[in-house]
Amino acid sequence: MLKRIKRKIWTRKWTQEQLNKYIGNFQHVYFTYAADEALRARAASGGSTSALLVYLLETGQIDGAVVCRTVLIEGKPRPEFFIARTKDDIIAAQGSKYSAVYFAANAFPLIRSFEGKLAVVALPCDAKNLQRWREKHPEIDQKIACVITLFCGHNSEPELTDAIIKKLGHPANLVDYTYRFGHWRGNLKATYDDGTEIIKPFKYFSDYRNLYFFAQEKCHHCFDHYGYYCDISAGDIWSPEMKHDPIKHTCLITRSDVGQRIVETAVQAGALVAREESIVAVANGQARTMPFHYNITSRARVGRLLGLKIKDETKERVRWNDYLIAFIALFNERFSKTRIGRRIILMIPRPLIKLYLYLFKGLETF
Ligand SMILES: Cc1cc2nc3c(=O)[nH]c(=O)nc-3n(C[C@H](O)[C@H](O)[C@H](O)COP(=O)(O)OP(=O)(O)OC[C@H]3O[C@@H](n4cnc5c(N)ncnc54)[C@H](O)[C@@H]3O)c2cc1C
Ligand code: SF4
Repeated sequence: MLKRIKRKIWTRKWTQEQLNKYIGNFQHVYFTYAADEALRARAASGGSTSALLVYLLETGQIDGAVVCRTVLIEGKPRPEFFIARTKDDIIAAQGSKYSAVYFAANAFPLIRSFEGKLAVVALPCDAKNLQRWREKHPEIDQKIACVITLFCGHNSEPELTDAIIKKLGHPANLVDYTYRFGHWRGNLKATYDDGTEIIKPFKYFSDYRNLYFFAQEKCHHCFDHYGYYCDISAGDIWSPEMKHDPIKHTCLITRSDVGQRIVETAVQAGALVAREESIVAVANGQARTMPFHYNITSRARVGRLLGLKIKDETKERVRWNDYLIAFIALFNERFSKTRIGRRIILMIPRPLIKLYLYLFKGLETF
C-alpha cells in the first residue's frame, strides 16, 4: 500500500503551467554533490552549497559568504548569521538550521558594513527581502556576487528545538547541536560537556515539524518553495533512486546567467560533480509538499475559521483534502503556541504522532 502511494507521488504528471508557477523561471537543473568529501560530511544534502561558496572564495570571486551557524545562547542552540571568509568557516556553518532566523535584522547589518564581494545563502522569503533592498540601494547590489536560496517547506520556532533537546533527557550541558546530517533523511546529534553524544534519527524532530507543530506563523503566508529571487536554488532530492545512491546529492536550479556560469565553472574546476536533470525530476522529488505550500488559497479560507488573516496571492483550486491539510497545519501551529497545547503535544506517545503524520501525508498525496 505504502509502496503504491509512493509510486503515485514519484510518477505524477505535471502540466507546464504547474511547473512554471511552482518552480518559477530557471535555466538548468542539476543533481550534484561536493567533489571534496570533507564538504559532504557535515552537509545537509550533497554539500554543493558549501562547495560553491568555497570555490567562489578560493578563486577570488568573493571575499566572504553570508552563512548561518548554530551558537549556544544560555545553553540553547540558536541560528546566527556571520560572514565566512575561509573554507573552515564555511564547513562550520554547514547543515540546515530548522529554527527561526531574522535575516533583515541580523544579516543586513553584516552586509552593509562589509567591504568586498559577497555570496549570500538565504531562505526564499529572506532572498525576496534582500532583492527589494538591493533594488533600493545600488551600493548594496554591487557587493553581492551571488545569492543561493535553500528550498523551504517551512521553518520552526526555536521552542521545538528546545522541546526535543529536553526530550533527549541528558542532564549535562549542551555544547553542540546538529539538526540533520548523514544519508537520506539523516540524524540529529546533541553533544554534551561530559563527552556524551546523542544521535537520533532526524524524524525524532521532523515528525513534529512536518505536522506544523511550532511552525513559524509567517510560513502560512508564503508560497515560494524554491526561492524565485536568486541566482541558484539548492535543495534535497526525495526520489527513490537517490535513497540507494551512496552519495547524498543536492539539487541545484540555476536561474540567472551568473548562477549558470558559477555552476558550470565550478564543475570544470573539479569543485562540484553534477549531472543535468529535467525539471520534472525536481517536481517529483517535492511532489507531496510543493502543491500545498503553493496553495495559499486553502490556508486563506481555513484561516478565517481560526481567526488568521491570510492574503490569498495564488488563487488556487481547493479540493476537499486541501481544506483538511490546511486545517491540520493551521490548527497544529496555533495549538502548539498555547501552553496547554504545547504540553499535550509533547506528552502524546510517538506512535500516535507517527499515525497522525501518516494521515497528514496521505492527505497531501491525494
Ligand atoms: C528551514 C529550512 C527548510 C528547508 N526545507 C526544505 C524542503 O522543504 N525541501 C528541500 O528539498 N530542502 C529544504 N531545505 C534545504 C535543505 O535542507 C538543504 O539546506 C539544501 O539541500 C542544501 O544542502 P547542501 O548540502 O548543499 O548545503 P550545505 O553545504 O549543508 O550548506 C547549507 C548552507 O545553508 C546555510 N543555512 C542553513 N540553514 C539556514 C537558514 N535557516 N537560513 C539561511 N541559511 C541557512 C548554512 O549556513 C550553509 O551555508 C530546507 C532548509 C532549511 C534551512
Ligand atoms: S516557508 Fe517561506 S516564509 Fe517560511 S521560512 Fe520558508 S521561505 Fe520563509
